[in-house]
Amino acid sequence: MSGSDELYDVIILGCGPAGLSAGIYAGRARLRTLIVEKGADGGQIAITDEIENYPGQIAGESGPSLIARMTEQAKKFGAERVNDVVKEVRLSGPVKEIVCGGGSYRAKSVIAATGANPRPIGCKGEEAFVGKGVSYCATCDANFFEGLDVYVAGGGDSAVEEAVYLTKFARKVTVIHRRGELRAAKSIQEKAFANPKIFFFWDSVVEELHGDELLCGITVRNVKTGELTRVDANEDDGMLGLFGFIGFIPRSELFRGMLDMDGGYIVTDEDMHTNIPGVFAAGDVRKKSLRQVVTAAADGAIAAVQAEKYLDV
Ligand code: NAP
Repeated sequence: MSGSDELYDVIILGCGPAGLSAGIYAGRARLRTLIVEKGADGGQIAITDEIENYPGQIAGESGPSLIARMTEQAKKFGAERVNDVVKEVRLSGPVKEIVCGGGSYRAKSVIAATGANPRPIGCKGEEAFVGKGVSYCATCDANFFEGLDVYVAGGGDSAVEEAVYLTKFARKVTVIHRRGELRAAKSIQEKAFANPKIFFFWDSVVEELHGDELLCGITVRNVKTGELTRVDANEDDGMLGLFGFIGFIPRSELFRGMLDMDGGYIVTDEDMHTNIPGVFAAGDVRKKSLRQVVTAAADGAIAAVQAEKYLDV
């Protein structure tokens, strides 16, 4: 990777549904478009087993296969793609500079579609057990817990949907939720309540993790009574699993001090303009009320069209 001397019309940071949708629209508008992504395509949906509510979705289709089609579409319309880690962004002038590990790229406009990372559970011992019983991605790690007891922290769409998915592998899945009622959509809740392998710890949070090498025990605290309950792996199993799905932290550090933010989310108007002319934000990194594939894709489309208008001025 060595950077480029080309002056792009638009550089899109991030290759999830927001970034790819922006790439499709920008490419189709014949803008010289570059998408920069440090890892694999897909953002959050790359680690989602099933997407039910994306309009027109093919039943049972996984996140990665939906993303593969979006990637193909962006390529078809001429969006270039580079794999590199963005180190710094210089956004204030008319020519924006994106400084990556392997070189720099310049563009007249930038779309930030950098998404969000899973929020850590926040219990004692968590870091030590990541990859040794603690995970934030059921699609990636569920098969390591074949036949074992698994716990899931959280009560939103992700936690409950992934708990259902985990029952395909685990002996038993227990959801630990800090309230007495789930936040997840009713249709997702119904699936979980109907599943005989799913159990609940209500009004509870994960307090502490135990084990030598692998995760073997979890202390759960009831937030109403303060009561501590310790659950341990079956002796024959030797370990148990804990999946954290308690929301996300926006990936916005690169833009700190430059773009207006609220709680780490980039603030835009309804047309995805940030406070800097020629800089747009789209998808989960943006302050918004609904974070879904469909809203990320819509944000990306709007941002690209607005970038085109900005370049025309
Ligand atoms: P979320 O909606 O923010 O839910 C986070 C869950 O974790 C909530 O139940 C919350 O409890 C709990 N929580 C937050 N902080 C906690 C803490 N410190 N300790 C214990 N529990 C904590 O996150 P998400 O489920 O990952 O979903 C993120 C976005 O993606 C949402 O907009 C969601 O609709 C969307 N999504 C959609 C689908 C789908 O439509 N199929 C699937 C996955 C995700 P409270 O309920 O008490 O706040």
